[in-house]
Amino acid sequence: MQRRRFLATSVSAALLLTGCGRWLRDDAGPDTAAPPEDPRPTPEPPEAPEAPSVVGEEPTGEQPDDGVAEDPELETEAPEPEPPEPGTPEVDPALYDAIPTEWGEAVTGVGRRLAGTSAIALTFDACGGPNGSGYDAALIGHLRHLDVPATLFVNERWLDANPAVFAELADDPLFEIANHGTRHRPLSVDGRSAYGITGTGSVDEVIDEVMGCQRRLTELTGTAPRFFRSGTAYYDDVAVRVVHELGLEVAGYSVLGDAGATFSAAQVRDALLGAGPGDIALLHMNHPASGTAEGVAATLPTLLDRGATFTTLGDHELA
Ligand SMILES: [Zn+2]
Repeated sequence: MQRRRFLATSVSAALLLTGCGRWLRDDAGPDTAAPPEDPRPTPEPPEAPEAPSVVGEEPTGEQPDDGVAEDPELETEAPEPEPPEPGTPEVDPALYDAIPTEWGEAVTGVGRRLAGTSAIALTFDACGGPNGSGYDAALIGHLRHLDVPATLFVNERWLDANPAVFAELADDPLFEIANHGTRHRPLSVDGRSAYGITGTGSVDEVIDEVMGCQRRLTELTGTAPRFFRSGTAYYDDVAVRVVHELGLEVAGYSVLGDAGATFSAAQVRDALLGAGPGDIALLHMNHPASGTAEGVAATLPTLLDRGATFTTLGDHELA
């Protein structure tokens, strides 16, 4: 075991140094982060749907490859229960015994549109992790140039990699800061997975996933974010109820803007041209090499000319 640890650590370091660490968990020790014996080829992103602008159940909204890799060893290692952090809201004890009946992006309690407004909400996720900690400065520049507001869902891993950029964005009144989780995990009370990423495994893990990032964002900005979106945007219905008990709303989406930053600029444009009153568009701000910035820049002037207006989530109620 000792030798395996040494090998795992050495390979991890080598991969990270060469920028090929996408297969590695960045948030666990070597016991649970053993990489493959040989570096594997980069996987292809998921196929984009034929008609991407509005989704029903297609599992393509969030980035599949930048989170916690599936690891069967996790299943056998029951984490030690830890006392809740001071200030963590108490959740209804009945939720600890509740059995989920829904799993997906559109489960009960997820707000996917804005109520009572003709405006469109653009939301940009910053997922963090080995393959997701970039910053799309061009995208943010386009939004500022056109004075288009947006809600930015920040994961704690991205925040840790981009503290100065985060401070600048949080200070800009054009942007609303929202919570995209601590380790970017699908939100489950029984360990369900999405895109091969292991979800949280209990109510307590749900609380940690939400409140870890929530505390950081609150400390840094002085304001507790109102909205949460999980890594992968997947939930079960009990986990959503837990988020509500913690005092946050769960923000889904109605327009698939960039399919985990895999869309070309033309696909982003086509998706956004389909956005209408009350829509919430989901895109990403952490992949500067993607088509997202160019697609947004190519589309916003057209939408503005049509009379479209843009808003942050926090100015409205979710529907
Ligand atoms: Zn994400």
